[in-house]
Amino acid sequence: MTLRNLTILGATGTIGVNTLDVVARHPDRFRVIALSGQNQVAKLAQQCRQFQPRYAVVLDAGKAKELDSLLAGTGTEVLVGMEALEWVSALPEVDSVMAAIVGAAGLRPALAAARAGKRVLLANKETLVMAGRFFMQAVQEHRATLLPIDSEHNAVFQSMPAGYDGNLAGHGVRRILLTASGGPFRTRAVETLKDVTPEQAVAHPNWVMGKKISVDSATMMNKGLEVIEARWLFNARPEQIEVVIHPQSIVHSMVEYLDGSVLAQLSNPDMRTPIAHSLAYPDRIEAGVNWLDLAKIGGLTFEAPDFARFPCLKLAYHALEAGGAAPAILNAANEEAVAAFLDHRLPYLGIAATLETVLEGLSDLAAESLDDLMEADAAARRAARALIPAS
Ligand code: NDP
Ligand code: MG
Repeated sequence: MTLRNLTILGATGTIGVNTLDVVARHPDRFRVIALSGQNQVAKLAQQCRQFQPRYAVVLDAGKAKELDSLLAGTGTEVLVGMEALEWVSALPEVDSVMAAIVGAAGLRPALAAARAGKRVLLANKETLVMAGRFFMQAVQEHRATLLPIDSEHNAVFQSMPAGYDGNLAGHGVRRILLTASGGPFRTRAVETLKDVTPEQAVAHPNWVMGKKISVDSATMMNKGLEVIEARWLFNARPEQIEVVIHPQSIVHSMVEYLDGSVLAQLSNPDMRTPIAHSLAYPDRIEAGVNWLDLAKIGGLTFEAPDFARFPCLKLAYHALEAGGAAPAILNAANEEAVAAFLDHRLPYLGIAATLETVLEGLSDLAAESLDDLMEADAAARRAARALIPAS
């Protein structure tokens, strides 16, 4: 068994906390070298006391000062800023980086980990949505190992042939089937969707997640982002990725082969399963999850997604087909729209409407370099904000 040294980016979030839960069950396997957080300084300090990392990183100087005083007398050094996040992701003594910051802010440190040839445990799907081509290039050039944390992509990874190298046809794969729970509004009367509140949107039926991804699950933008994520992770064309609604969230995704076989990964909806899979890969370790009791669950059902109910899913397919900067624009506009919705500045249906207008208005931005994509991200945010009332 190899001892693995970890950097956990976004340690204070849902994925970060679940990661530390798995790590704590295997003190002989994992050592925490660095943790990062943003606003939840007290929680980060408590995590540092428990796991004794060498470094703790926050983004701004004020928070760093607060954290510094909370950690006085411990061996943890407090670092500040984006450069520090990149630095702890590329440290020579670090083997694996859990990239679990939410949103576009997670791109640079995830890229730094890939460029340093690490095992990148990628939860931050926005990295692939924004800059999939450049990120995958960095993974290949620097021989990083990319392990998907997103439950669907982790399920696809597990259902693919061992050593899958990005050649679907060469491995006899016909399609990837991404499952989606359909979120809290799968059966709600469409004419009442205009009244959806942030509280209703973040109450996911099966998963406990951060607020942003919970709203994305309600609009099914999350599945749209995941289609784009799958395109890059598995080198699949849009028409090779199909979404199927599966309200029980037990089958986490599937791979269909040319002979008609469909392989799936099943488990209870608990992120500790894909996290433990990636942390220990190729070993298997206990994750602390409940064992699957299929007889108790009784039935697994599937249905086609309704694009009229979930226009964001359609927009994501459009952005993927348009290519170039379109996915980065979609992602940035979505972050702005979701933040405004959570802040009661934008109605629920305004999210999809904002994305559609921003995508249409910015159809010809360049995507030749990472800088181009950062500019597209900024332009999309400006365009989205201009459409959203300030208060
Ligand atoms: P959370 O909102 O729970 O956590 C986000 C983490 O990122 C927190 O540690 C937060 O710090 C930190 N953070 C937030 N903004 C910034 C920033 N600008 N710079 C640096 N750090 C920041 O999100 P989740 O854990 O739910 O999701 C994390 C990622 O994983 C997302 O990309 C999501 O799409 C993906 N994912 C999540 C799943 C889930 O089940 N939760 C499933 C599949 C994918 P703090 O809290 O201290 O402010
Ligand atoms: Mg997912």
